[in-house]
Amino acid sequence: AELGRAAARLLATARGVVVRHEQELGELDAIAGDGDHGIGMRRGVEAAADAAASLVEEAGGQACVSEVLATAGDAWSEKAGGTSGALWGSGIAAIGRALGSQQEYDAAAAPAAVAAYRDTVVALGKTELGDKTMVDALVPYADAVAERIAAGASVPEALAAAGDVADAAARATADLTPKKGRARPLAEKSLGHPDPGATSFALIAAGLAEDLA
Ligand code: ADP
Ligand code: MG
Ligand code: MG
Repeated sequence: AELGRAAARLLATARGVVVRHEQELGELDAIAGDGDHGIGMRRGVEAAADAAASLVEEAGGQACVSEVLATAGDAWSEKAGGTSGALWGSGIAAIGRALGSQQEYDAAAAPAAVAAYRDTVVALGKTELGDKTMVDALVPYADAVAERIAAGASVPEALAAAGDVADAAARATADLTPKKGRARPLAEKSLGHPDPGATSFALIAAGLAEDLA
């Protein structure tokens, strides 16, 4: 139950991050994509945070994390529209399945939870590293979480270090040209600018780390 409430709170934090950066993400997506990444992320994360909060409230604070994230993931996919919304929604639900019926914090479970998100996004998006997508920030992030936890770090420490890794990786996507998604036809225009989905992922990762610190 503690984890269910924590998941709902982190989604509320992610919502705040996305709302603060909505315009910037839209402008980034407009360079070589269709400009809807800010609004899509906001619609998705708002629906997910609302769904999670309602479920936790209905359950009197006792909702299971897997239920919270399944409901939130469905809401995110449904309301966001677009490629990134389906990936975020499915990825979040996969985190819930990885945590299963776990009720309390357990640092040992964190790498598997992050890996479940990564594996779902990679499988659904059929993306490889270097394709200039969210995956280019997500894969190094998941590796960093696993490394830090294995080295004895706490979850807040691991997520903070991994957040820095994701930020650097998202910035580095500026050097890539897109191989997937709507930015593909305008690939040259994208060169010199970071990928919108990698950028929003890194912003959310930093926000979650700050929340837990
Ligand atoms: P859409 O491209 O449908 O308009 P968004 O603008 O919300 O959706 O999201 C664009 C972002 O989604 C891209 O910047 C990229 O990071 C991510 N993305 C697009 N296609 C894929 C894919 N096949 N796998 C992983 N991420 C992808
Ligand atoms: Mg778009
Ligand atoms: Mg779109």
